[in-house]
Amino acid sequence: MAPARFDVVVIGAGAAGLSSALELARRGMSVLVLEQFEIGHTRGSSHGPSRIFRLTYDHPAYVRLARRALARWRELEDESGEQLYWPTGILSLSATEQGISKLADAMEQTGAPFERLSAREVMRRWPQWRLPDGWHGLYSPDGGVVSPDVTLPVLARLARRRGVVIRERVHVEDVDLTEPARPVVVTTRGRILAGHVVIGAGAWTRRFVEPWSAHLRVQENLTVFFRPRLPDMFGMGAFPLFIQEDSDLTYGFPLFGEEGIKVALHARGPLVDPDLTSSHVGSVGDDERVARLRSWLRTYLPEAAGEVMSARACLYTLTPSEDFLVDTHPLSDRTVVASPCSGHGFKFTPVIGELVANRLQGREPDGDEALFLSRSALGLTP
Ligand SMILES: Cc1cc2nc3c(=O)[nH]c(=O)nc-3n(C[C@H](O)[C@H](O)[C@H](O)COP(=O)(O)OP(=O)(O)OC[C@H]3O[C@@H](n4cnc5c(N)ncnc54)[C@H](O)[C@@H]3O)c2cc1C
Repeated sequence: MAPARFDVVVIGAGAAGLSSALELARRGMSVLVLEQFEIGHTRGSSHGPSRIFRLTYDHPAYVRLARRALARWRELEDESGEQLYWPTGILSLSATEQGISKLADAMEQTGAPFERLSAREVMRRWPQWRLPDGWHGLYSPDGGVVSPDVTLPVLARLARRRGVVIRERVHVEDVDLTEPARPVVVTTRGRILAGHVVIGAGAWTRRFVEPWSAHLRVQENLTVFFRPRLPDMFGMGAFPLFIQEDSDLTYGFPLFGEEGIKVALHARGPLVDPDLTSSHVGSVGDDERVARLRSWLRTYLPEAAGEVMSARACLYTLTPSEDFLVDTHPLSDRTVVASPCSGHGFKFTPVIGELVANRLQGREPDGDEALFLSRSALGLTP
């Protein structure tokens, strides 16, 4: 077989794949990206107008990584000349003190700015809310909206500008690791010898990562857009992003990029086969998630609880710990598996490429990056 034409072949042109391709090209490598559909398609995890960017995590490693990502979002804006991050601030709410103090502790440890608010203070500042007296709030000014529909074309453009070759509508059937030091990517159009391989296949990752596959679950999640009774109360600048940090983690957005207020439940939905799903959602009338969201809005955000305007399905790839999986493949140290998802990976897109490139170049993971290694993310015992 002819020598490898590319230093790296990346499977998948989603957030992880394109961010990795751009970073690897920045580090001087020749990169080929293979995508089974087209960039921006709606079958995977990186589509739609909006995603939450926040620093508010209960683990300092994620707060630090998010701060790094915020700086990189700004750099990407400078490099592309496009706005990619829309500051809105984010309000975390909880029915328990503990639900908020776990965030405050991690933010304090990393020096990230925030304010603790009582339920009354929240309602004084944002009269849209109806909160029970005993609830607690935390406001982080660094929260904002990032957008898959805007970001992916920008990443592809910047990557191509650095010589990355992106081939769409090419399906990868297998990664042949018979010779671990000479990985071969098997596609519907032939076999490609690669210096290295990055598996950024999102919900399809399980196909390529035996013996880890059983540890990954693919879940269909729903985002629902409700017609607000008083739209001006929910515009950008008038209403921050929000997350209720309790068992039924519910989150939402100000009006942005699409008609209606976007609201959703985190990690709530059926396990699915990604080849058998689509983002199109038929009638959502009887979906229990919609009923749950509607009653939640009626209780806590009554002016937002209008009719359902639309709903959109999207896929989570869940690890048991809900931490990201960024590690070398169990059968080849020239192959890196990148599944930064579990429903919270998009905000880190600009730094995911660095995590992947560090693994690929064999750099020792620092304390925070160790969180994303398979033994931690998948709970594997050595
Ligand atoms: C409903 C929902 C809400 C979310 N909200 C947030 C949020 O508010 N904040 C946040 O930070 N994150 C959020 N996320 C998570 C975030 O969207 C994901 O973490 C991120 O998009 C994952 O990107 P990815 O590159 O891993 O997957 P994808 O973008 O799906 O990319 C994988 C790509 O690989 C391609 N591929 C797969 N198999 C093959 C093959 N065999 N051959 C060729 N190509 C292949 C696929 O077609 C796809 O394009 C949310 C996710 C969902 C579903």
